[in-house]
Amino acid sequence: MAVIKYKSSDKIQISAHFNTNEFKCKCGKNHEILIDSELVSLLESLRTELNAKSCIIYSAYRCPTHDKNVGGSGKGSHTQGKAVDCYFIGQDGKRIPSQKVCLALEDMGHKKGIGYRCGGGSNESGQTHTDVANRKWYGDESIKAYRTKSCCSSYYEYFGIKKDNVVVNTYTGVFPKLPSRGYFKNGDKGIEVKNLQRFLNWAVNAKLAVDGIVGVKTIAAVKLFQKKVNTKQDGLFGKNSLSKAKEFKK
Ligand SMILES: [Zn+2]
Ligand SMILES: [Zn+2]
Repeated sequence: MAVIKYKSSDKIQISAHFNTNEFKCKCGKNHEILIDSELVSLLESLRTELNAKSCIIYSAYRCPTHDKNVGGSGKGSHTQGKAVDCYFIGQDGKRIPSQKVCLALEDMGHKKGIGYRCGGGSNESGQTHTDVANRKWYGDESIKAYRTKSCCSSYYEYFGIKKDNVVVNTYTGVFPKLPSRGYFKNGDKGIEVKNLQRFLNWAVNAKLAVDGIVGVKTIAAVKLFQKKVNTKQDGLFGKNSLSKAKEFKK
């Protein structure tokens, strides 16, 4: 994990879903930008955790001048390439509320910075400040006091939500279509493998690269899923695993 310098004119794909040009400073000047690779992988994991269709980055790297212009100190996480203000679009095409994003980060065990609905807006429309530098969790960042003072150590407490009452979800993404032999095996390729990998990332937090190729990691994730649903752990995702997947609740 490292902070890497890019030109603002770069258009480099740095992970499955993110490009350097989404991270450039919004001051309009043509200067270098910084991106921490830890932040990019956190965003990928968060995207999977939320089963999001897309992630829209509103603000990522900020030069010190721009950071001050938008109310920052000029030396915060955005100026180090370690933070984004973003929102996620769900499979239904709607924005995922900032509250849900904060809770997802907490569920993932994220211990570094989070800001609920940064820049103001409602729970539904606000963005979430996601950060790999500082270790504070902020409340509504449109209230100035919250920008410097941590609001809580648990968003469940902060929002008054009991962890046990979290809504149980079934998978809302696309289930894989089985190949003609009836199950997936090592070396299988294609779009249905991608659907399988996306499902496994959701169901068992497998953190697989959605590359459309069944390899040892995908097989291991299939076994983990089979263990979870008390079925034979042969690593071959077939009819039985698929029907378990369709009724699986998280
Ligand atoms: Zn700038
Ligand atoms: Zn921010």
